[in-house]
Amino acid sequence: RQPTDLNVLADEYLRLAYHGLRAKDKSFNATLTTDFASPLPKIEAVAQDLGRVLLNLFTNAFYAVQKRKEQGETGYAPTVRVATRALPGGGVEVRVHDNGTGIPEAVRQKIFQPFFTTKPTGEGTGLGLSLSYDIVTKGHAGTLAVETEEGQGTEFIITLPAGQ
Ligand code: ADP
Ligand code: MG
Repeated sequence: RQPTDLNVLADEYLRLAYHGLRAKDKSFNATLTTDFASPLPKIEAVAQDLGRVLLNLFTNAFYAVQKRKEQGETGYAPTVRVATRALPGGGVEVRVHDNGTGIPEAVRQKIFQPFFTTKPTGEGTGLGLSLSYDIVTKGHAGTLAVETEEGQGTEFIITLPAGQ
């Protein structure tokens, strides 16, 4: 574990996810917004593990906005927003919001299960969120929650407590 600046980590992985997708699919584009609190306390974290969590959340968000874009709604502007804020007591919260497809209730109940995916074979393993859940809760004593509305978008909320 190392004192980790979540702003730096989130920024790094957001670019990585975005440029990775654009390299594969030139037509992919989305507006990225970051709303990073400054100063943000550093937290004791395994940066590589939290990086994987963020990368998966960003990739999922981009996938969801791309899916909604494919539905051809007029005036739709794909947007992914990442926000950080300090929590009382020295912890940190990271919110990953997308205005993509949203998640139907029946699907939402299963998204943290290993191997659950709605993506076609080859596009998703269904391991991202179950791994992320373990990394955040067991690995960092944090929480991982989701708020979603079908047809509107989704927000994943990570909270991480202050380091000892
Ligand atoms: P994978 O991305 O390989 O499918 P995940 O565990 O990362 O596996 O996600 C599981 C499922 O949760 C996805 O297949 C999708 O149905 C749903 N999901 C996750 N994030 C989002 C999101 N931001 N918007 C809509 N659906 C999502
Ligand atoms: Mg995923």
